[in-house]
Amino acid sequence: MKIAVFSTKPYDRKFLDRANQRFGHDLVYFEPNLNIETCKLAFGFEAVCVFVHDSLTREVLQLLADNGTHLIALRCAGFNNIDLVAADELGFKILRVPAYSPNGVAEHAVSLMLALNRKIYRSHNRVREGNFSLEGLLGFEMYNKTVGILGTGKIGEILARIMKGFGMNVVAYDVAVNPRCEAMGVKYMGVKELLNQSDIISLHLPLLPDTYHIIDDEAVAQMKDNVMLINTSRGGLIDTPAVIEGLKSGKIGWMGLDVYEEEEGLFFEDLSGRVIQDDVFARLLTFPNVVITGHQAFFTDTALTNIADMTVQNIADFKNDTPRPENIVTAAFKKS
Ligand code: NAD
Repeated sequence: MKIAVFSTKPYDRKFLDRANQRFGHDLVYFEPNLNIETCKLAFGFEAVCVFVHDSLTREVLQLLADNGTHLIALRCAGFNNIDLVAADELGFKILRVPAYSPNGVAEHAVSLMLALNRKIYRSHNRVREGNFSLEGLLGFEMYNKTVGILGTGKIGEILARIMKGFGMNVVAYDVAVNPRCEAMGVKYMGVKELLNQSDIISLHLPLLPDTYHIIDDEAVAQMKDNVMLINTSRGGLIDTPAVIEGLKSGKIGWMGLDVYEEEEGLFFEDLSGRVIQDDVFARLLTFPNVVITGHQAFFTDTALTNIADMTVQNIADFKNDTPRPENIVTAAFKKS
């Protein structure tokens, strides 16, 4: 079976080739993202294998369906980049990797918290310049503070456990209470109450119509003064101009982002010799109390191994007509 593998970097090839040794799928690698301009590369391929910045709109899906593609193998858990209704109507099977690095993502959220709080990035630069002044490096102790976790699924649960280890008071919001979180003493509450009480807020919700811009002007207004906001989930959870206003007013005292709503075309590329055209992103870079990483929370050797293993397994399962129910994505997800 021929699979057109889009958005591939050398590290993707290395891990996929290694995992594929057991299966022998015909993987053909393409560097560009899948979109309306590039989808013709996949014509004649039974499957496409895609990542977070590939854009599977109705138009793209129609062209793929007309040219023999039946399977979309996601190398990630999120599927907000696929028109699921169109995919269902056109008869696509979509298989994803639902969990590959929950520990890695939770640990990265903690890295952002600590880097911001103790201003590691500033202090590293200063020490390299021979400047050992502590002025401006004041942090706070996380012990006994309150962290609010929005979304206590796989990643949120692990973060809750780590934060408990710091001696923090953990509060959470989720449509479904996670009994393991409750058992470790996490207190569930409404979003407004959580925003009111939390010293640190960390987002671990999927991007769905219900969660889009869950952090907007109104949400920022409800936060404690000088709050720390962390987003390692999806950029669209945050209305960026609203948090920029929050940073300017001092309402938000610290912000750590691994994702950004308009990250496609920026993240995963070396643009160091070019002018950044996105003025909103450029404004974010000017704040001394904002740390941004380029969607790297998942990027561990464990995760790349797990992604590659499950992706080639999903393709084999599709061939054998034995897809794993937990990996199947349908339009029903949009309604959940
Ligand atoms: P998960 O499905 O295990 O957990 C999501 C939680 O959100 C669930 O508990 C669910 O009940 C809750 N939820 C869903 N819709 C909700 C709503 N409308 N309101 C309130 N709660 C709702 O997902 P996960 O594995 O913990 O991942 C969370 C997110 O992290 C993913 O959706 C993905 O966007 C992101 N992620 C980012 C990276 C990265 O590298 N930055 C890597 C992996 C995942």
